[in-house]
Amino acid sequence: MDHPLPQLNQLFDYRIPVELLDDVVPGCRVTVRFSNRKLKGTVLAVRDRAEFAGKILPILDVVPPGPVLTPEVAALAQRIADRYAGNLADVLRLALPERKVRVEKEPPGERLPVAAPPLDHWDRYNAGEAFLRALRAGKAPRIAWSAVPGEDWAARLAEAAAAAAAAGRGALLVVPDQYDLERLDRALTAVLGPDRHVTIANSTGPTPRYRSFLKALRGEVRIVAGTQVAMFAPVADLGLVAVWDDGDKNLVSLHAPYPHAREVLLTRAELAGAACIVGGFARTAQAQLLVETGWAVSAPGRREALRAASPRVVPIGDDADLAADPSSSTARLPSVAWEAARKALAADLPVLLQVPRRGYVPAVSCQRCRSRAMCPECTGPLRLTGPRRPPVCTWCGRVDDPHRCAECGSNRIRAVVIGAARTAEEIASAFPGVEVVESNASERLDAIPAGARVVVSTPGVEPVAPQGYGAVLLVDTWAQLTRAELTASEEALRIWMNAVALCAPTGTAVVTADGGLPVVQALIRWDAAWFAGQELEDRRELGFPPVMRFAALTGPIGEAEKLAADLPGDLGAEAIGPIPVDEHTERLLLRVRRRDGAALAATLAKATAERSSAKAEQVRIQIDPREIA
Ligand SMILES: [Zn+2]
Ligand SMILES: [Zn+2]
Repeated sequence: MDHPLPQLNQLFDYRIPVELLDDVVPGCRVTVRFSNRKLKGTVLAVRDRAEFAGKILPILDVVPPGPVLTPEVAALAQRIADRYAGNLADVLRLALPERKVRVEKEPPGERLPVAAPPLDHWDRYNAGEAFLRALRAGKAPRIAWSAVPGEDWAARLAEAAAAAAAAGRGALLVVPDQYDLERLDRALTAVLGPDRHVTIANSTGPTPRYRSFLKALRGEVRIVAGTQVAMFAPVADLGLVAVWDDGDKNLVSLHAPYPHAREVLLTRAELAGAACIVGGFARTAQAQLLVETGWAVSAPGRREALRAASPRVVPIGDDADLAADPSSSTARLPSVAWEAARKALAADLPVLLQVPRRGYVPAVSCQRCRSRAMCPECTGPLRLTGPRRPPVCTWCGRVDDPHRCAECGSNRIRAVVIGAARTAEEIASAFPGVEVVESNASERLDAIPAGARVVVSTPGVEPVAPQGYGAVLLVDTWAQLTRAELTASEEALRIWMNAVALCAPTGTAVVTADGGLPVVQALIRWDAAWFAGQELEDRRELGFPPVMRFAALTGPIGEAEKLAADLPGDLGAEAIGPIPVDEHTERLLLRVRRRDGAALAATLAKATAERSSAKAEQVRIQIDPREIA
């Protein structure tokens, strides 16, 4: 039922009138009467008799074009609702796009054949060729793929999709944003030929989205590529799911129950018996957990492939050391970076300068040993709220006064407040006569023409250069490394690798960070798997996701605590907080062992439904909240 109230998170029985007997089938949309309102609903099952003993209302009408919810997606939707303590109706709203009558009247196309792809590009990876062969044989292999620098990842994903299609099965590929999707779209057309795939994204508008949905549903195309809104697409005979750059927060849905595309696709792989690629230049702790539990095989670049593809990566101390570098007076660029840039420009190649986004949370770290400052109570990240004020925990709200570093015992903290990212003008003055262009979230450059120029970009929006960049300079890295966020290091490596991946193999990447840091070592050796293994070990020790599962409860003051207090004790849920969100709202975190995650979700869903029936104020539940997972 398309009804948002949590207490209606249940199924309802309706009678099928004789005239609709042939039309009412599982997966079709219907109109029904519910508490004197006409509502739309989805038929989940058709039975000979009702389970409900009371008076049963008839179905009023069947909404064309017939069944839109496939059995596979129906099962998936229920699993995701359970996983995220959500409402089945909410998940179905994510899965079923808005209907466009006009599109239904369009003549159906015919399915075009897909030829088997070449294997040699995947040969560059451990287990890569074997993966593609297994896929072509209709099997369901699963890999955590770490791409080598400069990899045409979109083409590799397209080849994997072609391998699945050649075996007579479908593929679903999900990427973080529209730009990635456009790149994947072009690669799919190049590898498969035209009209063998569709794309699904919010940005295309409801009509094209519904058209793509119907083509997939009818099996006219076997391959669907999209942003996270495509994660429930009804791909027929699903044989492969793939997610690219799964550390990108864009993959988390902004709509209840806020599922992560990676989790949805992993669940789909299990339900459909499909192959799976969790890929990126970097690797998340979640992907590493798949490897360590034996669910997926690690597929990093082979040694020779890595050597051939990797630019030189040079670390040059952190920003504090740079301040003392006399040659860095102009635009504060260290001399090594200067040299790399000059050399690139002389060779008529572009230079990429990655600068931090403004407005990061002021973070705190130890001045002596530089480890991230964390809360002694809950191990959450600390932040500063003002000068000469003690640090405060972002999770539980505890004021850490006096503060002592958990690693070295020092009481001296180092604060990093971002807000004054260097400007393009500042950079331009350092390179007289060279064109300087900017790319940022609000004005993004997709690609640049060949030739010498300087590109100043914030992370995640770096334009692609035709022959690769001659130099990639990662500056102000301290801002990234000390973000008051659990995943700060993992996220730093991810955005650095994504930038260095754009460098030509003959180029030089300069990272203004201490070469002794594990995260910098991982970048130099291009070993995201090793770093993810370390990260996972740390998180296991500290009780962080994905080893532990978190839920965020956000609601009116006092309500989240009340809900948490009513949870059964045997769940072992640890309450962290609450902290104020605004004047009237607060947020409480709950932490349980991973294996108790399902029980926590079920309990929270039940508690929410009970509160709703009792007309208590709503508390929003987020399992794996975006800012923590
Ligand atoms: Zn310390
Ligand atoms: Zn705390």
